[in-house]
Amino acid sequence: MSLENSADNLTILGSTGSIGTQTLKVVKHLNSTGQANFNLSALSCGSNINLLRQQVDEFKPSYVCVKGEQERDELKPVLPSSTELLWGTEGLKRLAGLPEADKVVNALVGFIGLQPTLTALRSNSQVLLANKESLVIGGELVTEQLNRPDDSLIPIDSEHSAIFQSMETGNHSEIRRLLLTASGGPFKDKPLDEISTAGPDQALDHPNWSMGNRITIDSATMVNKAFEVIEAHWLFDVEYDRIEALVHPQSYIHSMVEFQDGSVVGEMGPPDMRIPIQYALTYPHRKQNHFHDVDFTQISELTFQSLDYDRYPAFKTVKQAAKSGGNAPAAINAADEVLIEAFLDEKINFGQISSGLKRISESLDLVKNPDIEVLRETDSWARNKTRSLIQNPPP
Ligand code: MG
Repeated sequence: MSLENSADNLTILGSTGSIGTQTLKVVKHLNSTGQANFNLSALSCGSNINLLRQQVDEFKPSYVCVKGEQERDELKPVLPSSTELLWGTEGLKRLAGLPEADKVVNALVGFIGLQPTLTALRSNSQVLLANKESLVIGGELVTEQLNRPDDSLIPIDSEHSAIFQSMETGNHSEIRRLLLTASGGPFKDKPLDEISTAGPDQALDHPNWSMGNRITIDSATMVNKAFEVIEAHWLFDVEYDRIEALVHPQSYIHSMVEFQDGSVVGEMGPPDMRIPIQYALTYPHRKQNHFHDVDFTQISELTFQSLDYDRYPAFKTVKQAAKSGGNAPAAINAADEVLIEAFLDEKINFGQISSGLKRISESLDLVKNPDIEVLRETDSWARNKTRSLIQNPPP
């Protein structure tokens, strides 16, 4: 840990993505207003080398990590000698485990984010988690690293940040239910028979949040919400039957905790990811930042509906996989990634995402208590199986 007044060493995994770039904006604001002293010591990205170059110029990290040798060769000639260049899975593992890192923001997308979470926790860094797969796929492995109650894992996702903040008013044994809110996505009011044939443009048109492509499609299918139920289960140690998802189209209440005395505590605010990002960075303190105001007099209604399985069949499939546990969420996650890619390439229609997920979970050989190797094998099995399903769709 850093000494008083000295800088907090910060690593950002996935610095060029949606969460990564917003994290850098928040860090810049906190540093420039003297409210924090973050030293951006390490950045990793996949292949957006141009943006990473700009970030290196601006933040002068000691380490960067890129996806592979091609990206390494592209970046190497233009990198200052004070920045060490790492690449590939091994490079990412080293970057995530730097002993000097106080905080590691894991904003990687996909299965690739699990190992860095485990590595950073083992190096005693605090992990600020935006990578869903760490808990969706590896919840068991990740929570084995935690000593509850502790603050070594802070959620960045808006729903989990809301629950995390609400939990400041009570303790674990006092929880009755967790209530996760969902905007309902772009197809909330679309006639059911039009949803299954919808294309990418319609599914990418999210009403409230601006996010990356995969998570936007996952919001349309509600796979994202089912994944968030899994994350909440592991993060807050609450069984699935006491976690409920509610459609709340206005997206002002980001999630709630119902306590044993009947009190419901939630977190409200504008739908802006920089708020939960900043809370994770500055926890347990709150710092000044001005994003947007909420004018409560302009909110005419806050509505809630239960989640309709006919509209969001994938939600049910993922929740069943969650209850099966083991390697089932890993299979679903990998299949979902392949299906979304095919959907964005217009090879399948929207309805085939959920039917594909169902087929994959039905044909999986369930393995209980999987280690990371089994999860990796399940991931590639599900990818191959899904690809062949897309090429040779069942009648
Ligand atoms: Mg969310």
